[in-house]
Amino acid sequence: MKRLLILPLLLLALVAHADRVRVRLFSTNTISTLNISFDLGQYNLYADDSLLLEPLVGEGRSVLVRCQGGRLAVSVNDDNYGLHRSLRLEATDTACILCLNPEGCKQRTYEGNLEVTPHAGNSLLLVADVDFETYLAGVVQSEIYGQQSDIFRIQAIISRTWALRNLRKHRADGYNFCDQVHCQAYLNRCIRPDIMVGVVRSSGQTLVDSAGALIETPFHSNSGGQTANSEDVWRTALPYLRSVQDTFSYRMRQTDWVKTISADRWLGYFAKTHRLDTGDSAIRDTLLHFSQPVRRARLLGIPLTRIRLDFKLRSTFFSVDYDSAARNVVLHGHGYGHGVGLSQEGAIRMVGLGIAYDSVLRHYYTGALLHLDPSANVNYLEHYTAQLEQIIEEDKNKQTQTRSKKDDWLGRLFRLRDREAREEIYIEEEQDNEQDWQYEW
Ligand SMILES: [Zn+2]
Repeated sequence: MKRLLILPLLLLALVAHADRVRVRLFSTNTISTLNISFDLGQYNLYADDSLLLEPLVGEGRSVLVRCQGGRLAVSVNDDNYGLHRSLRLEATDTACILCLNPEGCKQRTYEGNLEVTPHAGNSLLLVADVDFETYLAGVVQSEIYGQQSDIFRIQAIISRTWALRNLRKHRADGYNFCDQVHCQAYLNRCIRPDIMVGVVRSSGQTLVDSAGALIETPFHSNSGGQTANSEDVWRTALPYLRSVQDTFSYRMRQTDWVKTISADRWLGYFAKTHRLDTGDSAIRDTLLHFSQPVRRARLLGIPLTRIRLDFKLRSTFFSVDYDSAARNVVLHGHGYGHGVGLSQEGAIRMVGLGIAYDSVLRHYYTGALLHLDPSANVNYLEHYTAQLEQIIEEDKNKQTQTRSKKDDWLGRLFRLRDREAREEIYIEEEQDNEQDWQYEW
């Protein structure tokens, strides 16, 4: 019996690094005033690590935080609660949702806890402390569009892999990730059940190399028909980030683009910035008629990534036509993004064609292996997914009715998850059988 008590503790310790994450919210905005209201559940409000308010804050209350002389001026429903160094809203259960309205920004809603501290003079630093998988669902919703749950499953696997590999990215700043594409976009809580199904189905799945190490999983909007080698964009050659033909990315929203630039500006750029002799007819000819039937990395020795940056091009996969009458160059480009790894629109097309999610991942990450965390309980996840699908079905049938916020599908989902998890622990504790534990491991 002693063994049974120790093992669950060990298991928790092993997965703890990805249990919760700290994510900076509104990281590109300078926020001086923040209004917080509550959509679901109740929160404890702490200031300077002491409980500030009894009873709890929840629906019907609003917390206003202003930065004042390097401190936080806090008021709740217009009652002033003084100046503090830090503020923390702690959710009392997993079904809690808060609404953040920073001055000058569009409202966003999030689950989990929230910390507010003064930042860089007179602004506020907002950090969410959130369950890892809940964060992931918000990332998937922010990063990809689509209709089929497998596309969300694919995005969840590559986003989970990236996040677990980069947990220390903002360590020096005191959080794990920012909410922008610098890390991964996390622009709201996940409000779509079909996305949640995809994320839940992917639970415990990551991409690894043959040595079992998590791989880099870059992705982009559209490859334009061919993905790029990692070394052509970021110098490092990685065996699983190879250029592949990708006709799945044809005829999608971001497949083609055109940009017209005056020939003087185009040639002047190469003359001034890269010191090319544009009076030389061979050089001039190459610059005015450059073509890429297949992806190239350079134009006259200059990295295409540099040219893309300087002209703000959608991709490096372009060819040049010279319109001599108008003295313009017309760039005909393919795709959107750096082109390395997974093409999201290509993946959307592949899923639409009925190609399995793991084949899609293998197409874009050459030789990568799909790994399932041994602590993920597959039977439980299947059961959980089935319950979730049932909630979605019920929700569809209720479309004509007004749904109360308290019956929010996500709230129901959280409660279901909590109950299932508790029942699972109960069943495990009853089984005093060493073999079952080995199986769990
Ligand atoms: Zn970041």
